[in-house]
Amino acid sequence: MPKAADVILNLVPTNALNAMVTDNMLQLIVFALFVGIAISLIGEKGKPALAFFDSVAEIMYKIVGIIMNFAPIGVFALIAWVVGTSGAQVLLPLARVIFVVYFVNILHALIVYSGAVYVWAKMSPFQFFKGFFEAMAVAFSTCSSSATLPISMHCAQKNLGVSKEISSFVQPLGATINMDGTAIYQGVCAVFIAGVFGIKLGLSQYLMIIVAATLASIGTAGVPGAGMIMLSMVLEVVGLPLEGILLVAGIDRILDMIRTCMNVTGDAAGAIVIASSEGELTKIVPKLAPSGK
Ligand code: ASP
Repeated sequence: MPKAADVILNLVPTNALNAMVTDNMLQLIVFALFVGIAISLIGEKGKPALAFFDSVAEIMYKIVGIIMNFAPIGVFALIAWVVGTSGAQVLLPLARVIFVVYFVNILHALIVYSGAVYVWAKMSPFQFFKGFFEAMAVAFSTCSSSATLPISMHCAQKNLGVSKEISSFVQPLGATINMDGTAIYQGVCAVFIAGVFGIKLGLSQYLMIIVAATLASIGTAGVPGAGMIMLSMVLEVVGLPLEGILLVAGIDRILDMIRTCMNVTGDAAGAIVIASSEGELTKIVPKLAPSGK
């Protein structure tokens, strides 16, 4: 069993090509992060590489989109088979997964997001959630951070007082790489799948789940179902059976709704904190009801 320190050390590839051919996902993501940072640091000269990777990313999104179109048929057949062979009681643990994912996500929003806007931007959490509610509702129903971006930027600028400059930098960046809800979902599912397969997790495996879920969420695209595809990476890193994904595939849409909602809310909280630190947060005074003169 790898020690906790080895988990961290193993994140950095000594040979990126070796990481690719041996399918070492964590090392690949760390390498990709370094490539991305370097591309942005060299500015103009990095543009061709940026355009190339952007195009490859679009191609991958398309492939995932095509596969996801077939997912409902596969999930239907799978659940019918599981329930048909093992009885309806197998669905009960899935209800618990839904409960835990929703509970932890909401707790995260109430503690981390509320705390962040209150401590670093002196904004009342009530004002924050009220002003951002419209975007949360759109994220909840579309399951896509990218599709929600225009409305989340609108809410942050018009209802929460974030300047256009900060909002249009922080929120698109967040919609691509900041996915707390997805990381929480992947962590819960990995622990659930280990339990179903009777695999005991030690401290180093829990640590690996945290690191893998955080990195996998960074690499998750802001489209419906992407987090479930990246869950395969988390399972692979921790050595859990990939078939486990099939167990949660049937409830993915329900889980996607809350994780997307939290993903975009986290981006807005980040935008508020940055705007406040840069002096770019306008205090929005709540409109008073007409005096009736
Ligand atoms: N649907 C999520 C989002 O757009 C990503 C995911 O599947 O976790 O933020």
